[in-house]
Amino acid sequence: MTAAAVEFDRISMRFGAKTALDEVSLSVPEGAFVVLLGPSGGGKTTLLNILGGFLEPTAGRILIKGEDVTQMPPAKRPTTTVFQDYALFPHMTVGGNVAFGLKMRGIAKAERGPRVAAALEMVGLGDTAARRTHELSGGQRQRIALARSLVVEPSVLLLDEPLGALDLKLRRQMQDELKAIQRRVGTTFVHVTHDQDEAMAIADRIVVLNQGRIEDMGPPERIYLRPASRFTATFMGESNLIDGRVRAADHGKVAVETALGIFSVSGEATPDTAVVLSLRPEHLHSETAPGRQALGPAEVTETGFFGTHHLCGFRLAGQDTPMKARLPQKEIYRSGQALTFHLDPDDLVLLKR
Ligand code: ATP
Repeated sequence: MTAAAVEFDRISMRFGAKTALDEVSLSVPEGAFVVLLGPSGGGKTTLLNILGGFLEPTAGRILIKGEDVTQMPPAKRPTTTVFQDYALFPHMTVGGNVAFGLKMRGIAKAERGPRVAAALEMVGLGDTAARRTHELSGGQRQRIALARSLVVEPSVLLLDEPLGALDLKLRRQMQDELKAIQRRVGTTFVHVTHDQDEAMAIADRIVVLNQGRIEDMGPPERIYLRPASRFTATFMGESNLIDGRVRAADHGKVAVETALGIFSVSGEATPDTAVVLSLRPEHLHSETAPGRQALGPAEVTETGFFGTHHLCGFRLAGQDTPMKARLPQKEIYRSGQALTFHLDPDDLVLLKR
């Protein structure tokens, strides 16, 4: 079996009394695009800095391709980092910036030229080597930073909120490019962001970090559709949370009694324990269909138009908890209107309370 590209082995980090990371263990497979996602203060940057060697963990080990690098200084590690502020040298040309790391590693000038040209070509800036960095746009500068980090052929590329300074449209475009470049070079990428849409757009695997611990990790689809915790259900997109109690459990099916009715959902649980059911707003429908269960009468409390859909706030009769449904563009309701929502119990996710 080949070693993982990166292995975090029970990494803890304390700053005085503050625990930034609490025994984090994580294996990053070779060639993966891993995104560390979480709210501010969750520990993402600290974990990335430990991988880059900029911080030494209070406890735990870090291995890159099977080698223990916990004590190794950043310059000796087979990693490079792309920062949000690009950190380019303003007095150098684009080519000079990209060549810098090769020069520091003692690569001969004759070899540097073609490698710099190839790296710039890869990020779509093949004709800019002689230009000054300040003549270029933010998006172009970020691509140069990427070329500069990739040209030295690191085992792992670290990206610390690399698209954070770009406007939304450019950010979305750069996400697609970043993903395409990663596929082309096949290098393992570890990317930090607090933007859940960015994480879903680029990651093979998302690691949700909250309060120094891993809340959830897996492919974006799994994390979105089957979140492992209440935190993930509400941090990655919106969810309606419905309190319930397990009435029966048998062969992977659980009967949960809630104020909205009894639902048979997939999962494992102990009878008579308190649970929460999570339901995405797009899994509530105004129309019935085979397999769908009706909820009681509801009243629309607010509506918002988002171009592709409407977000509709409502309350079920006799219930205090506000709920949200995402309805098709052409289904328009007004506040105060009465309607009945339906759901497919297979869309309910069983969570521990
Ligand atoms: P953000 O998205 O805001 O950058 P993050 O998830 O990257 O957040 P970290 O920067 O890793 O979070 O911080 C994790 C926790 O550790 C926070 O509570 C932070 O205040 C604390 N912390 C980080 N660096 C230091 C430091 N040098 N000294 C003291 N506390 C620190």
